[in-house]
Amino acid sequence: MYVPANVRCTAGVMFLVAIAAPLTGGSDPFALQREQMVRQIEDRGIRSPNTLRVMRATPRHLFLPPDLQARAYEDRPLPIGFDATISQPYIVALMTELLEPAKQHRVLEIGTGSGYQAAVLAQLVDHVFTIEIVPALAQSAQLTLRRLGYSNVTVRQGDGYRGWPAEAPFPRIILTASPPEIPQTLIDQLAHGGRLVAPVGRLGSQELVLIEKMANGTLRRRSVGPVAFVPMKPGGR
Ligand code: SAH
Repeated sequence: MYVPANVRCTAGVMFLVAIAAPLTGGSDPFALQREQMVRQIEDRGIRSPNTLRVMRATPRHLFLPPDLQARAYEDRPLPIGFDATISQPYIVALMTELLEPAKQHRVLEIGTGSGYQAAVLAQLVDHVFTIEIVPALAQSAQLTLRRLGYSNVTVRQGDGYRGWPAEAPFPRIILTASPPEIPQTLIDQLAHGGRLVAPVGRLGSQELVLIEKMANGTLRRRSVGPVAFVPMKPGGR
C-alpha cells in the first residue's frame, strides 16, 4: 500500500533540521529523512510512543542494498530481490502498534525479508524468532542484524507455514507475507491471551487482520484495512 507523503512547508523542514542534528551529532546523513518519516507516520495516526521511538532509532537504510539507500525513508515498500520487499514504514509502524509488544514477549515473525521489521520489534520485546523461506535473504538479514547489534533476533531459513514448534507458544505472532488464510499451525502456536497480526488474502483483495486468542482459547478477529503484501509461498508441505 502506498500513500504519498504529506507535502511540508520550508519552515517545517528547518525545524526538523534543528531538532534532528543534535540527536545524532550530525553524523547520520539520514537523520533528517528518518525524522520526517516518523512525523509522517505520526500524522497518519500512529500514537504509541514506543513504536515511534524505535522507528526513530532504526537505521532503515542499512537494511537495503547501497543503490536503494537514498530512498529508504520514502513511505513506500522497496524491492530487496527474490520477489520480496521491505515493507512500507507506515505499515511496519501500524503492525508493530497492533501487536502491542512488551518487554517479556517472545515474538514469531514469518517473512524475515530484509530483517527491518524484526529489528524494530527486537527493541520492544525479549526475543524475535523469524523465519524466511529464501536462503539468500535469511542469510543476508542475519548478517545485517548481527552487524547492527540486534542480538535478540534468531533467523531461521525455512517454511513459515510450519511455524517454530520448538519455541511455541508465542504471545505475539506477525506475518509479513500474505497467506490466503491464516494457517491453523500458526493459530495453534499462538499463546492464550496472545495477538497475531497478518495480511490475509490474495493480491488485490488483501486485508490486515488482528487475531486475539482469549484466555479460554476462543478467537476474536478484526479487520484493520486493505494492504498489499508479497504472497506467502506454499513451501514444501
Ligand atoms: N518483514 C520484511 C518484509 C518481508 S517481505 C522486512 O521487514 O523486510 C515477505 C517475505 O516473506 C519475503 O522475504 C519472502 O521471501 C518471505 N516468505 C514468503 N513465503 C514465505 C514462507 N512460506 N515462509 C517464510 N517466509 C516466506
